[in-house]
Formats: sequence, C-alpha cells, structure tokens
Amino acid sequence: MFKLAIVVGHNEASQGAIRQDTGQTEWSWNIGLARMIEEAAHRASIGIEAKTFLRKPVGSYIREIRDVYRRTDEYGADATCELHFNSHHNPNATGTETLTSGSKASVRYAEFAQDRMLEALGLRDRGEKIVRTGRGSHSLISGRAPAILIEPFFGSSPNGLKVTDEEHEKRALAQAIVLATQDAFL
Ligand SMILES: [Zn+2]
Repeated sequence: MFKLAIVVGHNEASQGAIRQDTGQTEWSWNIGLARMIEEAAHRASIGIEAKTFLRKPVGSYIREIRDVYRRTDEYGADATCELHFNSHHNPNATGTETLTSGSKASVRYAEFAQDRMLEALGLRDRGEKIVRTGRGSHSLISGRAPAILIEPFFGSSPNGLKVTDEEHEKRALAQAIVLATQDAFL
C-alpha cells in the first residue's frame, strides 16, 4: 500500500481563512475534504491508503509543523499533501495553485496535483510555486516524504466558491488528489 498522509492546514485554535459564502474556515472545510480523500482512495482500490493528520496548537508555529510531520513520518508516509484554501481582500483574485519544495519528487507531485485540480474545478491556472522560505515552506521540508501544499481556490472569490460549494464538487476535488497521487507515484 502506498501511504498518503493528508495534513489539514491550520488548527482548531487558529482556523485560517474563511469561506465568504458559508463562513466555514479552512480548518473545518478541509477536515471534510480530508475524509473525502480517505474515502476516495479506499473506493478507488488502486493501492493508495490515505490517512488524515491534524496540526496541534502547541504554541510555536515551527514546533506545530515539526510535530505533525514527525507523525506523518511515524506513519511511514510515502507522500504528504497539506490542505488549505486561499484568501485575498480583492474578490477578483482567483485560481488554483500548488506549493512545492522544489525537490524533484515534490515538483512532479505538484504538477500532477495542479493538473488534476484544474481539471476538477476549471479555475485559472496560477501554477506550481517553489517555496523555500516563509509561510508554508516548513510544511514542504519537515517530513521525509515528498510534500505538496494545495490552494485549490480562493474562499474570497465568487468563482472559487461557486465551483466548490456542492458535495459532488468537493468529492471531485478529493478524487483529483487521489488521481494525482497515482499519476505521480504508482
Ligand atoms: Zn491556509
């Protein structure tokens, strides 16, 4: 079994950006998405097991990231994918992007994830971004496995909200992550 660790962005105490339609936070919306990824992997029967990991508010941001990726290492993750969504004060900001550490395996995974998410959501292609410093970078280098961090849409964008507000759309996004994992690693 290929082990895919899904890390839910942010934590219960500090839940990240907010969807402008439902008021749901990144943390709560992405817990639902993570469960759907687990189900999609199970249903697909393609040799991928997905398991969800939550970040714990341990006080320091760096320690929080190290703690969760230590747990994905202990699980024996073959790849990790951290779930977020974007936000901007300008509601016209829209599109899908994927962050990568720049390592060969991470870039390859990011490219497939980006393609599959674009296919699922039909939003603007903001591309893969190599992030080596600042917010998000620690999530990409703290674990042993190839890592990506996804920002499928903007929770501040009417376009982004429209294509992610129904159950079947969220399921398609979950499926996209499973298929991208298959594309990249199997
Ligand atoms: Zn976030």
